[in-house]
Amino acid sequence: MPVILGLMKKGLEKVLRNLNTFTAEDYEEKRQLLIPTFVLAFLFFFPYYLIIVIPAHGVDSIIFKDDFFSGIFVISGFLSSWFFSRYIKSEFVLGLPSIGCLCGSIYFMLNPEFNELKPYLWTYSKVLALIFGIILTGIRFYSILIVTAITLPFVVYLFIDHIPIFEILERDSVIYMMSLITVSIVYKRSVANHTRRREKNESELLKFSSELGTWKWNLTNNDVYFDARYKEILGYEDHELKNDLETWKNLLEESDFKQAEVAFKDYLEGRSPHYEVKFRMKHKKGHWVPIIAKGKIVERNSQGQPTLFVGTHFDFSILEELTQSLENEKLKLVQASKMATLGEMAAGVAHEINNPLAIISNANNLLRRDPGKEGRIQETTEMVQGSVDRIAKIVKGLKKYCRVDSEMEKKNINIKKIILESLDISSLNSKGTKVRLIKDKLVDQDVFCDELEIEQVLINLLNNALYGSLSTTDPWIEVSMARADNMIEVMVKDSGKGISEDIVEDLFNPFFTTKPVNEGTGLGLSIARGIAMDHKGSLTYQLNDGHTAFVLNLPIS
Ligand code: ADP
Repeated sequence: MPVILGLMKKGLEKVLRNLNTFTAEDYEEKRQLLIPTFVLAFLFFFPYYLIIVIPAHGVDSIIFKDDFFSGIFVISGFLSSWFFSRYIKSEFVLGLPSIGCLCGSIYFMLNPEFNELKPYLWTYSKVLALIFGIILTGIRFYSILIVTAITLPFVVYLFIDHIPIFEILERDSVIYMMSLITVSIVYKRSVANHTRRREKNESELLKFSSELGTWKWNLTNNDVYFDARYKEILGYEDHELKNDLETWKNLLEESDFKQAEVAFKDYLEGRSPHYEVKFRMKHKKGHWVPIIAKGKIVERNSQGQPTLFVGTHFDFSILEELTQSLENEKLKLVQASKMATLGEMAAGVAHEINNPLAIISNANNLLRRDPGKEGRIQETTEMVQGSVDRIAKIVKGLKKYCRVDSEMEKKNINIKKIILESLDISSLNSKGTKVRLIKDKLVDQDVFCDELEIEQVLINLLNNALYGSLSTTDPWIEVSMARADNMIEVMVKDSGKGISEDIVEDLFNPFFTTKPVNEGTGLGLSIARGIAMDHKGSLTYQLNDGHTAFVLNLPIS
Protein backbone atom coordinates (compact mmCIF):
# COMPACT_ATOMS: atom_id res chain seq x y z
CA MET A 1 0.00 0.00 0.00
CA PRO A 2 2.70 2.58 0.91
CA VAL A 3 4.43 1.67 -2.37
CA ILE A 4 1.27 2.36 -4.37
CA LEU A 5 0.66 5.61 -2.46
CA GLY A 6 4.27 6.64 -3.11
CA LEU A 7 3.90 5.93 -6.82
CA MET A 8 0.64 7.87 -6.96
CA LYS A 9 2.28 10.80 -5.19
CA LYS A 10 5.18 10.75 -7.65
CA GLY A 11 2.79 10.57 -10.60
CA LEU A 12 0.74 13.46 -9.28
CA GLU A 13 3.84 15.55 -8.71
CA LYS A 14 4.92 14.86 -12.28
CA VAL A 15 1.52 15.92 -13.65
CA LEU A 16 1.58 19.11 -11.57
CA ARG A 17 5.15 19.89 -12.64
CA ASN A 18 4.22 19.45 -16.27
CA LEU A 19 1.18 21.65 -15.85
CA ASN A 20 3.45 24.54 -15.03
CA THR A 21 5.82 24.14 -17.93
CA PHE A 22 4.38 25.14 -21.19
CA THR A 23 5.64 27.78 -23.54
CA ALA A 24 3.84 30.53 -25.46
CA GLU A 25 4.26 28.53 -28.63
CA ASP A 26 2.59 25.47 -27.02
CA TYR A 27 -0.25 27.64 -25.87
CA GLU A 28 -1.09 29.07 -29.29
CA GLU A 29 -0.99 25.58 -30.81
CA LYS A 30 -3.37 24.28 -28.18
CA ARG A 31 -5.66 27.23 -28.59
CA GLN A 32 -5.97 26.41 -32.29
CA LEU A 33 -7.43 23.02 -31.28
CA LEU A 34 -10.57 24.62 -29.84
CA ILE A 35 -12.31 25.26 -33.15
CA PRO A 36 -11.85 21.79 -34.69
CA THR A 37 -12.96 20.24 -31.40
CA PHE A 38 -16.08 22.34 -31.40
CA VAL A 39 -16.86 21.43 -35.01
CA LEU A 40 -16.32 17.71 -34.35
CA ALA A 41 -18.48 17.74 -31.20
CA PHE A 42 -21.18 19.54 -33.14
CA LEU A 43 -21.00 17.07 -36.04
CA PHE A 44 -21.33 14.20 -33.56
CA PHE A 45 -24.19 15.51 -31.45
CA PHE A 46 -26.30 17.27 -34.08
CA PRO A 47 -27.22 14.10 -36.02
CA TYR A 48 -27.68 12.29 -32.70
CA TYR A 49 -30.44 14.74 -31.71
CA LEU A 50 -31.96 14.90 -35.15
CA ILE A 51 -32.03 11.16 -35.74
CA ILE A 52 -32.42 9.66 -32.26
CA VAL A 53 -33.52 12.08 -29.54
CA ILE A 54 -36.09 14.24 -31.35
CA PRO A 55 -37.89 11.42 -33.22
CA ALA A 56 -37.96 9.27 -30.04
CA HIS A 57 -38.90 11.89 -27.43
CA GLY A 58 -39.99 15.01 -29.28
CA VAL A 59 -38.77 18.61 -28.81
CA ASP A 60 -40.98 19.10 -25.73
CA SER A 61 -39.46 16.16 -23.89
CA ILE A 62 -37.38 16.68 -20.79
CA ILE A 63 -34.48 14.77 -22.35
CA PHE A 64 -34.32 17.11 -25.32
CA LYS A 65 -34.68 20.16 -23.04
CA ASP A 66 -31.84 18.89 -20.92
CA ASP A 67 -29.59 18.23 -23.93
CA PHE A 68 -30.48 21.53 -25.50
CA PHE A 69 -29.56 23.52 -22.37
CA SER A 70 -26.45 21.40 -21.75
CA GLY A 71 -25.44 22.14 -25.33
CA ILE A 72 -25.76 25.84 -24.60
CA PHE A 73 -23.43 25.46 -21.60
CA VAL A 74 -20.88 23.67 -23.76
CA ILE A 75 -21.09 26.16 -26.63
CA SER A 76 -20.71 29.04 -24.13
CA GLY A 77 -17.64 27.24 -22.76
CA PHE A 78 -16.12 27.12 -26.24
CA LEU A 79 -16.94 30.72 -27.11
CA SER A 80 -15.68 32.15 -23.81
CA SER A 81 -12.56 29.99 -24.03
CA TRP A 82 -11.83 31.20 -27.58
CA PHE A 83 -12.46 34.81 -26.54
CA PHE A 84 -10.65 34.93 -23.18
CA SER A 85 -7.74 32.75 -24.21
CA ARG A 86 -6.55 35.61 -26.40
CA TYR A 87 -6.00 37.78 -23.32
CA ILE A 88 -5.46 35.33 -20.47
CA LYS A 89 -2.79 32.83 -21.33
CA SER A 90 -3.77 30.01 -19.01
CA GLU A 91 -4.55 26.36 -19.54
CA PHE A 92 -7.52 26.83 -17.28
CA VAL A 93 -9.11 29.14 -19.87
CA LEU A 94 -8.50 26.52 -22.55
CA GLY A 95 -10.38 24.08 -20.31
CA LEU A 96 -13.58 26.19 -20.21
CA PRO A 97 -15.58 24.02 -22.72
CA SER A 98 -15.17 21.03 -20.49
CA ILE A 99 -15.94 23.05 -17.39
CA GLY A 100 -19.05 24.24 -19.27
CA CYS A 101 -20.16 20.68 -19.82
CA LEU A 102 -19.53 19.73 -16.18
CA CYS A 103 -21.36 22.81 -14.91
CA GLY A 104 -24.27 21.99 -17.21
CA SER A 105 -24.53 18.47 -15.80
CA ILE A 106 -24.27 19.63 -12.20
CA TYR A 107 -26.88 22.35 -12.78
CA PHE A 108 -29.36 19.88 -14.21
CA MET A 109 -28.73 17.37 -11.46
CA LEU A 110 -29.41 19.93 -8.76
CA ASN A 111 -32.63 20.85 -10.54
CA PRO A 112 -35.37 18.45 -9.29
CA GLU A 113 -37.08 18.58 -12.69
CA PHE A 114 -34.14 16.64 -14.16
CA ASN A 115 -33.48 14.42 -11.14
CA GLU A 116 -34.73 11.25 -12.74
CA LEU A 117 -32.30 11.82 -15.62
CA LYS A 118 -29.31 11.76 -13.28
CA PRO A 119 -27.55 8.65 -14.69
CA TYR A 120 -28.12 9.92 -18.21
CA LEU A 121 -26.69 13.33 -17.31
CA TRP A 122 -23.62 11.84 -15.76
CA THR A 123 -23.04 9.70 -18.82
CA TYR A 124 -23.53 12.71 -21.05
CA SER A 125 -20.95 14.77 -19.16
CA LYS A 126 -18.51 11.88 -19.06
CA VAL A 127 -18.80 11.25 -22.80
CA LEU A 128 -18.22 14.92 -23.54
CA ALA A 129 -15.22 15.06 -21.20
CA LEU A 130 -13.81 12.02 -22.96
CA ILE A 131 -14.37 13.38 -26.46
CA PHE A 132 -12.82 16.72 -25.59
CA GLY A 133 -10.05 14.98 -23.74
CA ILE A 134 -9.21 12.78 -26.74
CA ILE A 135 -9.17 15.66 -29.19
CA LEU A 136 -7.55 18.21 -26.94
CA THR A 137 -4.87 15.89 -25.62
CA GLY A 138 -2.33 18.69 -25.80
CA ILE A 139 -4.16 20.53 -23.05
CA ARG A 140 -3.23 18.83 -19.83
CA PHE A 141 -6.13 20.43 -18.04
CA TYR A 142 -8.43 17.96 -19.77
CA SER A 143 -6.87 14.97 -18.11
CA ILE A 144 -7.85 16.49 -14.78
CA LEU A 145 -11.36 17.17 -16.05
CA ILE A 146 -11.76 13.61 -17.26
CA VAL A 147 -10.71 12.33 -13.87
CA THR A 148 -13.22 14.70 -12.20
CA ALA A 149 -16.00 13.77 -14.62
CA ILE A 150 -15.46 10.10 -13.84
CA THR A 151 -14.84 10.19 -10.10
CA LEU A 152 -17.47 12.76 -9.13
CA PRO A 153 -20.44 10.74 -10.44
CA PHE A 154 -18.88 7.61 -8.96
CA VAL A 155 -18.79 9.23 -5.52
CA VAL A 156 -22.36 10.53 -5.93
CA TYR A 157 -23.62 7.09 -7.02
CA LEU A 158 -21.88 5.40 -4.16
CA PHE A 159 -22.51 7.72 -1.25
CA ILE A 160 -25.60 9.77 -2.14
CA ASP A 161 -27.57 7.41 -4.34
CA HIS A 162 -26.30 4.33 -2.47
CA ILE A 163 -25.88 2.26 -5.58
CA PRO A 164 -23.72 -0.81 -4.94
CA ILE A 165 -20.26 -0.62 -6.42
CA PHE A 166 -20.76 -3.70 -8.66
CA GLU A 167 -23.82 -2.16 -10.23
CA ILE A 168 -21.92 1.08 -10.94
CA LEU A 169 -19.07 -0.83 -12.49
CA GLU A 170 -21.44 -2.93 -14.53
CA ARG A 171 -23.24 0.14 -15.82
CA ASP A 172 -20.24 2.33 -16.54
CA SER A 173 -17.32 -0.06 -16.88
CA VAL A 174 -16.84 0.70 -20.59
CA ILE A 175 -16.65 4.39 -19.87
CA TYR A 176 -14.25 3.84 -16.97
CA MET A 177 -11.96 1.74 -19.16
CA MET A 178 -12.05 4.32 -21.93
CA SER A 179 -11.34 7.05 -19.41
CA LEU A 180 -8.34 5.26 -18.00
CA ILE A 181 -6.92 4.70 -21.47
CA THR A 182 -7.68 8.28 -22.47
CA VAL A 183 -6.11 9.80 -19.38
CA SER A 184 -2.97 7.78 -19.86
CA ILE A 185 -2.82 8.70 -23.58
CA VAL A 186 -3.50 12.36 -22.77
CA TYR A 187 -0.77 12.43 -20.21
CA LYS A 188 1.82 10.52 -22.19
CA ARG A 189 1.21 12.45 -25.38
CA SER A 190 1.34 15.82 -23.73
CA VAL A 191 4.58 14.99 -21.94
CA ALA A 192 6.08 13.58 -25.16
CA ASN A 193 4.97 16.66 -27.11
CA HIS A 194 6.45 18.90 -24.53
CA THR A 195 9.77 17.05 -24.49
CA ARG A 196 9.91 16.98 -28.29
CA ARG A 197 9.23 20.70 -28.51
CA ARG A 198 11.75 21.50 -25.81
CA GLU A 199 14.41 19.45 -27.56
CA LYS A 200 13.62 21.12 -30.86
CA ASN A 201 13.81 24.56 -29.28
CA GLU A 202 17.06 23.73 -27.55
CA SER A 203 18.70 22.46 -30.70
CA GLU A 204 17.38 25.48 -32.64
CA LEU A 205 18.76 27.77 -29.97
CA LEU A 206 22.06 25.97 -30.00
CA LYS A 207 22.27 26.23 -33.75
CA PHE A 208 21.19 29.84 -33.71
CA SER A 209 23.57 30.90 -30.96
CA SER A 210 26.44 29.15 -32.66
CA GLU A 211 25.34 30.64 -35.99
CA LEU A 212 25.64 27.21 -37.56
CA GLY A 213 23.91 26.32 -40.76
CA THR A 214 24.11 22.71 -41.90
CA TRP A 215 24.44 21.04 -45.28
CA LYS A 216 24.42 17.53 -46.69
CA TRP A 217 25.88 16.38 -49.98
CA ASN A 218 25.16 12.97 -51.38
CA LEU A 219 28.30 12.26 -53.36
CA THR A 220 26.71 9.45 -55.34
CA ASN A 221 23.99 11.47 -57.07
CA ASN A 222 25.09 15.03 -56.13
CA ASP A 223 21.88 15.70 -54.23
CA VAL A 224 22.44 18.48 -51.72
CA TYR A 225 20.45 19.83 -48.85
CA PHE A 226 20.89 23.17 -47.03
CA ASP A 227 18.94 23.76 -43.82
CA ALA A 228 16.93 26.90 -43.05
CA ARG A 229 19.72 28.43 -40.95
CA TYR A 230 22.23 27.95 -43.81
CA LYS A 231 19.96 30.04 -46.01
CA GLU A 232 19.11 32.50 -43.26
CA ILE A 233 22.82 33.33 -42.85
CA LEU A 234 22.74 34.47 -46.47
CA GLY A 235 19.51 36.43 -45.99
CA TYR A 236 17.18 33.96 -47.71
CA GLU A 237 13.96 32.28 -46.60
CA ASP A 238 13.99 28.50 -46.71
CA HIS A 239 12.01 28.36 -49.98
CA GLU A 240 14.05 31.06 -51.71
CA LEU A 241 17.21 29.01 -52.28
CA LYS A 242 17.21 25.82 -54.29
CA ASN A 243 18.91 22.84 -52.72
CA ASP A 244 21.48 22.12 -55.38
CA LEU A 245 25.19 22.31 -55.90
CA GLU A 246 24.90 25.18 -58.36
CA THR A 247 23.35 27.39 -55.67
CA TRP A 248 26.45 26.98 -53.52
CA LYS A 249 28.84 27.51 -56.45
CA ASN A 250 27.00 30.61 -57.67
CA LEU A 251 26.97 32.30 -54.30
CA LEU A 252 30.62 31.63 -53.62
CA GLU A 253 33.34 34.12 -54.51
CA GLU A 254 35.19 32.75 -57.53
CA SER A 255 38.68 32.56 -56.04
CA ASP A 256 37.27 31.05 -52.85
CA PHE A 257 35.64 28.28 -54.85
CA LYS A 258 39.03 27.02 -55.95
CA GLN A 259 40.25 27.12 -52.36
CA ALA A 260 37.22 25.10 -51.22
CA GLU A 261 37.93 22.54 -53.93
CA VAL A 262 41.53 22.23 -52.74
CA ALA A 263 40.41 21.83 -49.11
CA PHE A 264 37.94 19.13 -50.14
CA LYS A 265 40.58 17.29 -52.14
CA ASP A 266 43.07 17.54 -49.29
CA TYR A 267 40.52 16.03 -46.97
CA LEU A 268 39.52 13.24 -49.35
CA GLU A 269 43.12 12.34 -49.98
CA GLY A 270 43.90 12.29 -46.26
CA ARG A 271 46.18 15.32 -46.17
CA SER A 272 43.86 17.04 -43.75
CA PRO A 273 41.88 15.37 -40.92
CA HIS A 274 38.70 17.23 -41.85
CA TYR A 275 37.38 19.61 -44.42
CA GLU A 276 37.73 23.15 -43.15
CA VAL A 277 37.83 26.24 -45.27
CA LYS A 278 37.05 29.94 -45.03
CA PHE A 279 35.21 31.65 -47.86
CA ARG A 280 32.86 34.45 -48.67
CA MET A 281 29.31 33.96 -49.87
CA LYS A 282 27.03 36.52 -51.43
CA HIS A 283 24.23 37.76 -49.15
CA LYS A 284 20.80 38.43 -50.64
CA LYS A 285 21.45 42.15 -50.07
CA GLY A 286 24.67 42.00 -52.08
CA HIS A 287 27.39 42.08 -49.43
CA TRP A 288 29.78 39.22 -48.70
CA VAL A 289 29.31 37.03 -45.64
CA PRO A 290 32.47 35.47 -44.22
CA ILE A 291 31.89 31.75 -43.67
CA ILE A 292 33.86 29.01 -41.99
CA ALA A 293 32.80 25.73 -43.56
CA LYS A 294 33.54 22.41 -41.91
CA GLY A 295 32.63 18.97 -43.09
CA LYS A 296 33.10 15.28 -42.64
CA ILE A 297 32.40 12.16 -44.66
CA VAL A 298 29.87 10.23 -42.61
CA GLU A 299 29.08 7.37 -44.96
CA ARG A 300 31.08 5.17 -47.34
CA ASN A 301 30.04 2.34 -49.62
CA SER A 302 31.33 -1.23 -49.44
CA GLN A 303 34.38 -0.28 -51.55
CA GLY A 304 35.22 2.49 -49.10
CA GLN A 305 34.19 5.26 -51.52
CA PRO A 306 32.70 8.30 -49.74
CA THR A 307 28.95 8.58 -50.27
CA LEU A 308 27.69 11.18 -47.81
CA PHE A 309 29.43 14.42 -46.92
CA VAL A 310 27.88 16.60 -44.22
CA GLY A 311 28.97 19.77 -42.52
CA THR A 312 28.29 23.21 -41.16
CA HIS A 313 28.55 26.84 -42.14
CA PHE A 314 29.53 29.34 -39.48
CA ASP A 315 28.96 33.02 -40.11
CA PHE A 316 31.93 34.70 -38.53
CA SER A 317 31.05 38.32 -39.32
CA ILE A 318 30.55 38.89 -35.61
CA LEU A 319 34.08 37.67 -34.92
CA GLU A 320 35.44 39.88 -37.67
CA GLU A 321 33.65 42.89 -36.22
CA LEU A 322 34.98 41.99 -32.80
CA THR A 323 38.54 41.67 -34.05
CA GLN A 324 38.18 44.98 -35.84
CA SER A 325 36.93 46.74 -32.74
CA LEU A 326 39.71 45.17 -30.65
CA GLU A 327 42.18 46.38 -33.24
CA ASN A 328 40.68 49.89 -32.96
CA GLU A 329 40.88 49.78 -29.18
CA LYS A 330 44.50 48.72 -29.41
CA LEU A 331 45.23 51.61 -31.76
CA LYS A 332 43.58 54.01 -29.35
CA LEU A 333 45.71 52.66 -26.51
CA VAL A 334 48.88 52.98 -28.56
CA GLN A 335 47.92 56.54 -29.40
CA ALA A 336 47.19 57.29 -25.73
CA SER A 337 50.52 55.88 -24.70
CA LYS A 338 52.31 57.88 -27.36
CA MET A 339 50.71 60.99 -25.96
CA ALA A 340 51.76 60.00 -22.45
CA THR A 341 55.33 59.39 -23.59
CA LEU A 342 55.24 62.67 -25.44
CA GLY A 343 54.20 64.44 -22.26
CA GLU A 344 57.03 62.83 -20.34
CA MET A 345 59.41 63.79 -23.10
CA ALA A 346 58.39 67.43 -23.16
CA ALA A 347 60.44 68.38 -20.09
CA GLY A 348 63.53 66.59 -21.40
CA VAL A 349 63.14 68.13 -24.82
CA ALA A 350 62.76 71.65 -23.43
CA HIS A 351 65.98 71.17 -21.50
CA GLU A 352 67.72 69.69 -24.52
CA ILE A 353 66.73 72.55 -26.77
CA ASN A 354 67.60 75.17 -24.17
CA ASN A 355 71.21 73.98 -23.99
CA PRO A 356 72.09 74.44 -27.68
CA LEU A 357 70.08 77.65 -27.73
CA ALA A 358 72.25 78.97 -24.88
CA ILE A 359 75.34 77.94 -26.86
CA ILE A 360 74.07 79.76 -29.97
CA SER A 361 73.27 82.83 -27.94
CA ASN A 362 76.74 82.80 -26.31
CA ALA A 363 78.40 82.40 -29.69
CA ASN A 364 76.43 85.30 -31.01
CA ASN A 365 77.52 87.49 -28.06
CA LEU A 366 81.15 86.53 -28.57
CA LEU A 367 80.98 87.38 -32.25
CA ARG A 368 79.35 90.71 -31.53
CA ARG A 369 81.91 91.66 -28.89
CA ASP A 370 85.08 90.70 -30.75
CA PRO A 371 84.34 89.57 -34.30
CA GLY A 372 87.91 90.13 -35.55
CA LYS A 373 89.67 87.72 -33.20
CA GLU A 374 91.58 85.10 -35.17
CA GLY A 375 89.73 81.88 -35.82
CA ARG A 376 86.69 83.17 -33.88
CA ILE A 377 84.31 83.12 -36.84
CA GLN A 378 85.08 79.52 -37.75
CA GLU A 379 85.01 78.40 -34.11
CA THR A 380 81.65 80.03 -33.41
CA THR A 381 80.00 78.98 -36.66
CA GLU A 382 81.00 75.39 -35.89
CA MET A 383 79.53 75.75 -32.41
CA VAL A 384 76.34 77.19 -33.86
CA GLN A 385 76.14 74.46 -36.51
CA GLY A 386 76.65 71.77 -33.83
CA SER A 387 73.87 73.20 -31.73
CA VAL A 388 71.54 73.64 -34.69
CA ASP A 389 72.17 70.00 -35.65
CA ARG A 390 71.33 68.92 -32.11
CA ILE A 391 68.07 70.88 -32.17
CA ALA A 392 67.24 69.52 -35.63
CA LYS A 393 67.83 66.00 -34.37
CA ILE A 394 65.50 66.47 -31.45
CA VAL A 395 62.83 68.06 -33.62
CA LYS A 396 63.17 65.17 -36.07
CA GLY A 397 62.70 62.73 -33.22
CA LEU A 398 59.59 64.57 -32.11
CA LYS A 399 58.20 64.82 -35.60
CA LYS A 400 58.21 61.07 -35.87
CA TYR A 401 55.78 61.00 -32.99
CA CYS A 402 53.30 62.97 -35.02
CA ARG A 403 52.89 60.07 -37.40
CA VAL A 404 49.21 59.21 -37.26
CA ASP A 405 48.99 56.20 -39.51
CA SER A 406 48.59 52.92 -37.78
CA GLU A 407 50.62 50.72 -40.10
CA MET A 408 54.00 49.68 -38.87
CA GLU A 409 56.88 50.74 -41.08
CA LYS A 410 59.37 47.95 -40.62
CA LYS A 411 62.80 48.14 -42.17
CA ASN A 412 66.33 47.13 -41.32
CA ILE A 413 67.57 49.63 -38.79
CA ASN A 414 70.60 49.78 -36.58
CA ILE A 415 69.37 49.08 -33.06
CA LYS A 416 72.30 50.98 -31.53
CA LYS A 417 71.13 54.10 -33.34
CA ILE A 418 67.61 53.61 -31.99
CA ILE A 419 68.97 53.19 -28.45
CA LEU A 420 71.05 56.35 -28.68
CA GLU A 421 68.18 58.36 -30.11
CA SER A 422 65.88 57.08 -27.38
CA LEU A 423 68.43 58.17 -24.79
CA ASP A 424 68.49 61.60 -26.44
CA ILE A 425 64.79 62.17 -26.25
CA SER A 426 63.94 60.37 -23.01
CA SER A 427 63.44 62.30 -19.79
CA LEU A 428 66.97 61.35 -18.73
CA ASN A 429 68.21 64.69 -19.99
CA SER A 430 65.98 66.83 -17.81
CA LYS A 431 66.85 65.24 -14.49
CA GLY A 432 69.81 63.30 -15.74
CA THR A 433 72.53 65.30 -14.04
CA LYS A 434 72.14 63.23 -10.93
CA VAL A 435 71.74 59.90 -12.73
CA ARG A 436 74.77 58.04 -13.98
CA LEU A 437 74.22 56.57 -17.43
CA ILE A 438 76.11 53.38 -18.26
CA LYS A 439 76.16 52.22 -21.87
CA ASP A 440 77.45 48.68 -22.16
CA LYS A 441 78.28 46.70 -25.30
CA LEU A 442 76.24 48.86 -27.63
CA VAL A 443 77.26 47.48 -31.02
CA ASP A 444 76.04 48.09 -34.54
CA GLN A 445 73.39 45.54 -35.36
CA ASP A 446 70.52 45.74 -37.82
CA VAL A 447 67.09 44.72 -36.64
CA PHE A 448 64.02 44.50 -38.87
CA CYS A 449 61.66 46.78 -36.98
CA ASP A 450 59.57 49.88 -36.89
CA GLU A 451 62.01 52.46 -35.57
CA LEU A 452 59.42 54.67 -33.98
CA GLU A 453 57.69 51.83 -32.14
CA ILE A 454 60.92 50.39 -30.74
CA GLU A 455 62.00 53.88 -29.74
CA GLN A 456 58.70 54.21 -27.92
CA VAL A 457 59.39 50.99 -26.02
CA LEU A 458 62.88 52.09 -25.04
CA ILE A 459 61.83 55.60 -24.01
CA ASN A 460 59.20 54.03 -21.81
CA LEU A 461 61.71 51.70 -20.19
CA LEU A 462 64.21 54.55 -19.73
CA ASN A 463 61.63 56.89 -18.20
CA ASN A 464 60.49 54.14 -15.84
CA ALA A 465 64.12 53.41 -14.96
CA LEU A 466 64.70 57.07 -14.22
CA TYR A 467 61.63 57.14 -11.99
CA GLY A 468 62.77 53.97 -10.22
CA SER A 469 66.41 55.01 -9.78
CA LEU A 470 65.80 58.51 -8.46
CA SER A 471 64.74 57.15 -5.10
CA THR A 472 68.09 55.41 -4.59
CA THR A 473 71.17 57.06 -3.05
CA ASP A 474 73.47 56.50 -6.01
CA PRO A 475 71.14 56.53 -9.00
CA TRP A 476 72.31 54.90 -12.21
CA ILE A 477 70.82 53.45 -15.37
CA GLU A 478 72.50 50.85 -17.50
CA VAL A 479 71.60 50.17 -21.09
CA SER A 480 73.23 47.10 -22.55
CA MET A 481 73.00 44.87 -25.57
CA ALA A 482 73.62 41.15 -25.99
CA ARG A 483 73.08 38.63 -28.72
CA ALA A 484 71.50 35.23 -28.18
CA ASP A 485 70.95 32.99 -31.23
CA ASN A 486 68.84 34.96 -33.63
CA MET A 487 67.74 37.49 -31.08
CA ILE A 488 69.05 40.78 -29.83
CA GLU A 489 68.58 41.50 -26.16
CA VAL A 490 68.38 45.08 -25.01
CA MET A 491 68.44 45.39 -21.25
CA VAL A 492 67.44 48.53 -19.38
CA LYS A 493 68.49 48.23 -15.74
CA ASP A 494 68.43 50.76 -12.96
CA SER A 495 69.74 51.13 -9.44
CA GLY A 496 66.33 50.33 -7.95
CA LYS A 497 66.18 47.22 -5.77
CA GLY A 498 63.73 45.38 -8.00
CA ILE A 499 59.94 45.40 -8.10
CA SER A 500 58.07 43.92 -5.19
CA GLU A 501 56.85 40.39 -5.88
CA ASP A 502 53.19 41.09 -5.30
CA ILE A 503 52.99 43.55 -8.16
CA VAL A 504 55.25 41.80 -10.67
CA GLU A 505 52.29 39.84 -12.05
CA ASP A 506 50.38 43.03 -12.80
CA LEU A 507 53.22 45.02 -14.33
CA PHE A 508 52.15 44.40 -17.93
CA ASN A 509 48.43 44.82 -17.35
CA PRO A 510 46.96 47.91 -18.98
CA PHE A 511 46.32 50.77 -16.54
CA PHE A 512 48.37 49.20 -13.77
CA THR A 513 50.40 51.95 -12.16
CA THR A 514 51.86 52.72 -8.77
CA LYS A 515 52.54 56.29 -9.73
CA PRO A 516 50.41 59.15 -8.36
CA VAL A 517 47.33 60.20 -10.35
CA ASN A 518 48.29 62.46 -13.27
CA GLU A 519 51.80 61.04 -13.33
CA GLY A 520 51.33 57.50 -14.56
CA THR A 521 48.90 56.07 -17.08
CA GLY A 522 49.79 52.45 -16.50
CA LEU A 523 49.76 51.92 -20.26
CA GLY A 524 53.46 52.08 -20.99
CA LEU A 525 54.55 48.52 -20.27
CA SER A 526 51.42 46.86 -21.64
CA ILE A 527 51.76 48.68 -24.94
CA ALA A 528 55.50 48.16 -25.01
CA ARG A 529 54.96 44.41 -24.63
CA GLY A 530 52.32 44.52 -27.41
CA ILE A 531 54.82 46.24 -29.70
CA ALA A 532 57.54 43.70 -28.86
CA MET A 533 55.13 40.87 -29.65
CA ASP A 534 54.08 42.50 -32.93
CA HIS A 535 57.76 42.30 -33.82
CA LYS A 536 57.80 38.61 -32.91
CA GLY A 537 59.91 39.47 -29.89
CA SER A 538 59.21 39.83 -26.18
CA LEU A 539 59.46 42.21 -23.28
CA THR A 540 60.04 40.70 -19.85
CA TYR A 541 60.86 41.73 -16.34
CA GLN A 542 64.11 40.14 -15.14
CA LEU A 543 63.32 38.39 -11.87
CA ASN A 544 65.96 38.01 -9.14
CA ASP A 545 68.39 40.39 -10.79
CA GLY A 546 69.08 42.30 -7.59
CA HIS A 547 68.20 45.49 -9.42
CA THR A 548 65.27 46.49 -11.60
CA ALA A 549 65.84 45.21 -15.10
CA PHE A 550 63.64 44.85 -18.18
CA VAL A 551 64.74 42.91 -21.25
CA LEU A 552 63.54 43.62 -24.77
CA ASN A 553 64.12 40.73 -27.16
CA LEU A 554 63.94 41.33 -30.89
CA PRO A 555 64.64 38.97 -33.74
CA ILE A 556 67.59 39.90 -35.90
CA SER A 557 66.69 40.79 -39.49
P1 ADP B 1 53.32 54.01 -15.73
O1 ADP B 1 54.78 54.28 -15.88
O2 ADP B 1 52.47 55.03 -16.40
O3 ADP B 1 52.91 53.74 -14.33
P2 ADP B 1 54.01 51.52 -16.94
O4 ADP B 1 53.15 50.48 -17.59
O5 ADP B 1 55.15 52.04 -17.73
O6 ADP B 1 53.03 52.68 -16.54
O7 ADP B 1 54.55 50.96 -15.57
C1 ADP B 1 53.69 50.29 -14.70
C2 ADP B 1 54.26 50.21 -13.32
O8 ADP B 1 55.40 49.37 -13.33
C3 ADP B 1 54.77 51.49 -12.76
O9 ADP B 1 53.73 52.26 -12.18
C4 ADP B 1 55.77 51.02 -11.72
O10 ADP B 1 55.10 50.65 -10.53
C5 ADP B 1 56.31 49.74 -12.30
N1 ADP B 1 57.61 49.95 -12.91
C6 ADP B 1 57.91 49.90 -14.22
N2 ADP B 1 59.24 50.10 -14.42
C7 ADP B 1 59.79 50.26 -13.19
C8 ADP B 1 61.12 50.52 -12.72
N3 ADP B 1 62.16 50.63 -13.55
N4 ADP B 1 61.31 50.63 -11.37
C9 ADP B 1 60.28 50.52 -10.52
N5 ADP B 1 58.99 50.29 -10.91
C10 ADP B 1 58.75 50.18 -12.22
